[in-house]
Amino acid sequence: MARYTGPVCRLCRREGTKLFLKGDRCYEKCILDRRGFIPGQHGHSRGKKVSEYGLQLREKQKARRLYGILERQFHNYFIRAERMQGITGENLLSLLERRLDNVIFRLGFATSRSQARQMVRHGHFRLNGHKANIPSMILRPGDVITIRERSKETPLVQENLEAAKHKTPPVWLELDLEGMQGRILGLPTREQIDVPIEETLIVELYSR
Ligand code: SF4
Repeated sequence: MARYTGPVCRLCRREGTKLFLKGDRCYEKCILDRRGFIPGQHGHSRGKKVSEYGLQLREKQKARRLYGILERQFHNYFIRAERMQGITGENLLSLLERRLDNVIFRLGFATSRSQARQMVRHGHFRLNGHKANIPSMILRPGDVITIRERSKETPLVQENLEAAKHKTPPVWLELDLEGMQGRILGLPTREQIDVPIEETLIVELYSR
């Protein structure tokens, strides 16, 4: 699956909010602290009235960029969320959160979603004892993610595990740093998903 490979800070500037796309590095230095305006020729123009459609579109773009997903796949998640029981917007976020790359990021095995995605592609993880190299896999309660045996000593993994000691994973995940593994305890509820997204606007956009 293709992905965006351009400058990521530009995406945060476009959305006017920190999306933390560079992971831990965002806490050290962030361009939004200096230049918060929208990139491009007309980025300085302020006070422009945004239409309802514009707001909905921006929210969807923000979610896509946060999770690093292209339009078609994102729309497919929405269709799947609509077919599930419960509230569509919350189902959508639950699906996005349970992507393998996101879970690895949330557990602290990677410092950003994009790094998690690359590590998954490189085969550093196993899911329930089997090879898992597809970042978009949706995990379920009870699933166990482990670090591949020969990846455990790599500098990147060691560095990330060290950093993970200072982080707390969300309550729907269980982290065993010693055992280098994580488990999905249950489906994340909306309150447990810490993302600056108004999912109802996305639902409204796709329901037009
Ligand atoms: Fe760049 Fe991170 Fe700041 Fe976003 S939050 S603008 S990715 S440094």
